[in-house]
Formats: sequence, structure tokens, C-alpha cells
Amino acid sequence: MAARLVYIPRMCDHAETLAAALRRCGVPAEVLPPTDEKTLELGRKYTSGKECHPFTVTTGDFLKKITEPGFDPQRSAFLMPTASGPCRFGQYHQTQRIILDRLGYRDVPIFSPDVRDSYGRSMGLGLKFRRLAWRGIVAVDLLNELAAAIRPDEKTSGAADKLHAYYLAMISKAIEAKNGGIFKTVKEMKRDFFALPRLNPGHKPLIGIVGEIFLRCNPACNADIVRKVEKLGGRTYTAPISEWFYYTNLGYIYESWLRRSPQGFARALLADLIQRWDERRLGHRQPSALKLIRLASPYLHHTFKGEAILSIGKALDLIENGAAGIINIMPFTCMPGTVVSAIAKQIEIPWLDVSIDGTEGVNLEIRLEAFMHQAASYKKSVPRARERK
Ligand code: SF4
Repeated sequence: MAARLVYIPRMCDHAETLAAALRRCGVPAEVLPPTDEKTLELGRKYTSGKECHPFTVTTGDFLKKITEPGFDPQRSAFLMPTASGPCRFGQYHQTQRIILDRLGYRDVPIFSPDVRDSYGRSMGLGLKFRRLAWRGIVAVDLLNELAAAIRPDEKTSGAADKLHAYYLAMISKAIEAKNGGIFKTVKEMKRDFFALPRLNPGHKPLIGIVGEIFLRCNPACNADIVRKVEKLGGRTYTAPISEWFYYTNLGYIYESWLRRSPQGFARALLADLIQRWDERRLGHRQPSALKLIRLASPYLHHTFKGEAILSIGKALDLIENGAAGIINIMPFTCMPGTVVSAIAKQIEIPWLDVSIDGTEGVNLEIRLEAFMHQAASYKKSVPRARERK
């Protein structure tokens, strides 16, 4: 395995630090090029149109790489994790395996870290990889939150984006470096972002972005929703990627307890505690998965697995913290996304479901304009003390 170059789908900025963590552990790794028209063309050619949009995109990205000159099947592999619950994500790697086999690429493995042990034995790399990868994920969550919080009010246009690009590279470098330095890098990152001159900070309506993890964090696939909201006078907070890992930890703890597996229970609990500890040291805080499930409990039973319960819990948490509107990003026909959309009718706040199938256009712009108008009105009715700065 060590000789194979692992290609990682460019789901979000975190892919860069994941690749860095793999390289630090001796596994050659590279993030696939950004999704483009060619991705969609290839993805649609080998799918029926009924699959989830992230499946079409990631399959297209794999096939684009395979058809590139110089691709070596003997020295390459792809990464596609799994998940369980009422959702099709667990089938991605199996279906992609079938497609690669039919195209004659039987010898190209797809590595699939398993959600059942909360990705604990990721590719046989153990604790060191897991911890490095986790620190990278948290650091990039923080980077994205800082950029999204500060960019809408920046005095010099482009300053936050410039810092974002710089620190994404610095975080990856710190994860990959032998002597680490991630804590120092994150400290400097915060200092530099907070030093950016701002105009009237925090006065714009805060829009919470929840929903399907691949699309909500992938501007190339979600019609660049964050920028659209900013253009219409809002600021955003997107549910962090790290949220999912706390949720899978909790699932592992719960399942171990049900199966009476003290070993699994202890392993999962310890991993969760260490992750929480690292997150605190990096200066990032978020509600626990348990809190999100509790918030969502009037609408969904706690055993309802998958992203729906997290999206509802996170939306309610953001509303508690002064969000003036919620956008639910969902791939067209997404099962958890449809559940969230149905429940949202009972939540009193401007709410916009954005269903993505790769053909978004003017219709979205018009709906977004109306939504932002509602959010601005809603904001006037929210006491300022509740607002997230
Ligand atoms: S979350 Fe939705 S889009 Fe993603 S795999 Fe599950 S059903 Fe498909």
C-alpha cells in the first residue's frame, strides 16, 4: 500500500490537511483537481441519474483522474469513506468499485475507512494518523469560520481570502512537518484574522448553513452559496466538518454499549475525549453531538441515524445563537435532506432548502433574494444580545 498514491476527492479544504496527514504517516497522497464540467460529464456518463449528486461528482472526479495521461493503475488508489443509517453514502465505494471493474481498473483499490468504528482503524494507520488528521480538520474548520465571519465586514476587499489561502497552506505544512507546529500556526492565524480592519462588524444578518456534508462545504458543487449570501448582504456560519466525527464517535460508543463490548466502548470514549482535548487546545468550540441530538429530539428520535438529526440540531443551536435564517443544502432526492426539509416547516425562522443537482441557475438567485429579505426582517426582531459575533 505504501507505494500507491492515494487520491482524495476535493470535497472541501479539509482534503488538503487529510492528504498532509497521510503523507506525514508515509502514505503518498494527493487531492484530486477541482470539480468541473468534465467531472460532471464523466460522472453522468457512468451513472443513471437516480444516484445522489455527490456520488456523480466523486465518480466523475475518479474517472477524470483515470483518463489523465500518466495515470498508473499499479501505483494508484482512491479514498472513499463509508457511513451507515438511512442514506446511500455506504454504497458509494461499492458502486464505484463496480464501475472501475467494468472499465478494466480492477487493480486500483478504493480505500474505505469504516464509520462503524468511527473511522478508528483508518487504512491501518493507527492513532498517529487519526490524531494528525483530526487536528487538521479542526484547524481548517476554524480557518473557514474565521474567514466567513470576517470577510463580509472587511475594510480591504480580498484581505480575508488572502489570509485564508495562506493559512490553508500553513496548516497543511504544519500537519506534514516532523516537528509539528500546528498549535503555533493556529494561534498566529487567529491573531492575523482578528487584526484585519473591519467596518461595522456583526451588523449583517447571520445565515446558518446546514445539510449534506459534501455539498454544504464544497463551493464548486453548492453554487457557491456562501458568496451569494455575502453578495446579498449576509454573513454565514457553515456547520463544521468536525461535527460529523463527534457524531460517529457517539454512535460507536452507543453501539459498543449495546453490544456489551467494553473494549470498543473504552476505545471510542477515549478517542472522543482526546479529540475534544485537541479541539480545545486549538481554540475551537462547538456543541457536543449529544447536545445537537437533544435539541433535535422534539422532532426526531435519537436512534434516527445520519445527517438529518445533526442538521436539525445544528439549525436549532444556530437559532439560539442569533441566526436570522437557515439554508439547508441538500442533493436532489437526498433522503436525510428531505426529512430535514419536512421538519423545517415546524421551525419558525426564514428557511431555504437548496436542492442541488448540478443545474442551479437564475431560479436559485431569485429564491435567495427573497430569503435574504426575510432574514433581514427577522433579524430586527432578534434581541442583539443573542447574536453570535
Ligand atoms: S446524505 Fe443524501 S446525498 Fe449524501 S449519500 Fe446520503 S442520501 Fe445521498
